[in-house]
Amino acid sequence: MKDKILCILCNKQLTQTPDEIKFIGKNDLYICEECVVFSYELLNRLKRVKNQKRSFVLPSPKEIKSFLDDYVIGQEEAKKILSVAVYNHYKRVFLLKDEDIEIQKSNILLIGPTGNGKTLLAETLAKMLNVPFAIVDATVYTEAGYVGEDVENILLRLLQSANFDIKAAEHGIVYIDEIDKLSRKSDSPSITRDVSGEGVQQALLKILEGTIANVPPQGGRKHPYQEFIPVNTKNILFICGGAFEGLQKIVEERLNKKSIGFISEKEKNGKVEHWYKYIQPQDLIKYGLIPELVGRLPVVAYTYELSESELRDILIKPKNALVKQYKKLFELEGIELEFTDDAITEIAYLAKQRGTGARGLKSILENILINEIYELAQNKTVSKCIINKEVVQEKIKPIRLHNKQIHKTA
Ligand code: ADP
Repeated sequence: MKDKILCILCNKQLTQTPDEIKFIGKNDLYICEECVVFSYELLNRLKRVKNQKRSFVLPSPKEIKSFLDDYVIGQEEAKKILSVAVYNHYKRVFLLKDEDIEIQKSNILLIGPTGNGKTLLAETLAKMLNVPFAIVDATVYTEAGYVGEDVENILLRLLQSANFDIKAAEHGIVYIDEIDKLSRKSDSPSITRDVSGEGVQQALLKILEGTIANVPPQGGRKHPYQEFIPVNTKNILFICGGAFEGLQKIVEERLNKKSIGFISEKEKNGKVEHWYKYIQPQDLIKYGLIPELVGRLPVVAYTYELSESELRDILIKPKNALVKQYKKLFELEGIELEFTDDAITEIAYLAKQRGTGARGLKSILENILINEIYELAQNKTVSKCIINKEVVQEKIKPIRLHNKQIHKTA
């Protein structure tokens, strides 16, 4: 045996302290524990990438829509538009041969009030296609020279989601939220902020168009001495979302000016019905997006404000519906959680009053159940918990049934 034991991969030396890294080997050839773990993970990753590549079958728009239906309630029009757009995008990425004519990338603009499914749609699409996915907020990025992050960091988030598998990240989906806040004619009194918003739009334009971006692996600001990871954005699908408050007025004004008879045909309660169907690039430019960026977002979809009955469905119907999730959590404690029908209706009613779309549902449910979870965790005597309308209205506490009571009623 040699007097020094070295790892043949990293040259690390075995020391005698008991907590030190372990070595395995034979015939004077040794590998340290760290290199064994690293090699194991690397092999697994390569295997996964290979399987993913082999198994990529492009689903049809109908299949994509049907997958979205399992998770996203309502928003039929947006689901259809997105299914076709995503289908076209990946057809272009995977089926187009070099000799074919170049088909331009179609990034997507998703407009609609908060909490009604924009992020969920983007997220679900990525889940269906099994591609890396990142959600970023447009407002944290600034153009070079301002305080904030460079837009290249958007791609760092995608790389992280792809476990730094650059090839996989280059086929991923990025959801950029609050794109409307970069509007150059925002209500903000600060002129500098407006200028910087426009600067970020310019910077975004490059990565949306398709470029080899230099991504700083540590994030933050680019630094001249930092090594970059080059990422080609040509096949990355960007979905930009925003509420675009005030856009309706711009669209209606244009429609009113254009044809005097228009409003009387389409008008309902003083508003143009389904105004979002009439959104044109010029409206978005008037809102404050730069024309070049609008040009790079040729697919426009709209998520409308969900109705009370759709909010009700969100509670119970999707594959991972909130009520199903809470029931499971209670079941793990050995407790059956029951919501009466009027409780579900009441929660949907209250969420609708809040005006934050489906976001309200979760906080209302949490408010009702947090105390029960706190008190009933590991409780062996309670076997059922009932939530009815009065509980939701906070008139009474959730109804607890104990083991004996259940036997009596059975
Ligand atoms: P947005 O991006 O439009 O602000 P989100 O997609 O983030 O809204 O919605 C917030 C949450 O509300 C989601 O995580 C999801 O649980 C729920 N939600 C919103 N819209 C829907 C919908 N149409 N169907 C099912 N759940 C929804």
